Amino acid sequence: MMQLYQPLNILGFAYREIKQSLIDMEKMFDLLAIRPEIADREGASVLDAKGAAVNFDDVRFGYGPDREVLKGLSFTAEAGQKTAIVGPSGAGKSTIARLILRFYDPTGGAVRIGAADIRSVTQESLRASLGVVPQDTVLFNDTIGYNIGYPKPDATQDEIERAGQLAQIHAFIEGLPKGYETLVGERGLKLSGGEKQRVAIARTVIKNPPILLLDEATSALDSETEAGILASLNEVASGRTCIVIAHRLSTVVDADKIIVIEDGRLVESGNHRDLLRENGLYARLWLQQSMAREKGTLETA
Ligand code: ADP
Ligand code: MG
Repeated sequence: MMQLYQPLNILGFAYREIKQSLIDMEKMFDLLAIRPEIADREGASVLDAKGAAVNFDDVRFGYGPDREVLKGLSFTAEAGQKTAIVGPSGAGKSTIARLILRFYDPTGGAVRIGAADIRSVTQESLRASLGVVPQDTVLFNDTIGYNIGYPKPDATQDEIERAGQLAQIHAFIEGLPKGYETLVGERGLKLSGGEKQRVAIARTVIKNPPILLLDEATSALDSETEAGILASLNEVASGRTCIVIAHRLSTVVDADKIIVIEDGRLVESGNHRDLLRENGLYARLWLQQSMAREKGTLETA
């Protein structure tokens, strides 16, 4: 009997993982098409990502054989720091996230977490180490408490509420007539984009992963909501290795390191002040976005 249930369990697990993935990775078909190619190596080890850096070592990758998207990319997101990845649309930023999640393997070079090449560890332990705050969060047709707690089936009400507090959505939930028992999703309460992102952040608190990966929403949240979300994210990110793929440069001003990529290559790196002083691509993007902000017509990449 157990054996009969196994494939169903695996599908259920994959489905959860897909739901947790970045939205443009959520195309089921893509994922199911990719998964069989990525298999655990024989004797794959269990990743221990606590206090680990994420390192791209001369990574080359293309979705097809005729076009390379990452062209020998090297950088390190240091342990416990916030590293931002910025660059023009199409530069390869989301591709970096997909490689960290190992939806694809590089064609050259290596992606490492700590000392481990991620191809040498089990995918289960890799995914357990990564907390992803997606561009758009999918909610289950269940209570908001369930939606926050689901990465940890035995999470207590206390843990769930603490996660809600850290994500700064607790007061909102407590203000609902049924509190954490309120049904959300298609058949329940509709949450705004900002509230959904807070649910995603609360989930990440529950999951408690050593590495955080955020692909910033492209849909424009109003700047007050955005600032609030960033504040709660920073709270959650403290002490973890955090990689933020940023579309709005206002997000990255406080990053320890900013990686600027263009056409699959690293063109600059440093903190906000270093990069402004360098007066290169980052400074140009910054000027463009500052002007757009002033005109109130900020377009996100
Ligand atoms: P960014 O996030 O910086 O805007 P992406 O990493 O999404 O850029 O994409 C980098 C390049 O790879 C783009 O030229 C894009 O068209 C291409 N690309 C992205 N996803 C796929 C895919 N699934 N198949 C083929 N090409 C893709
Ligand atoms: Mg992208």
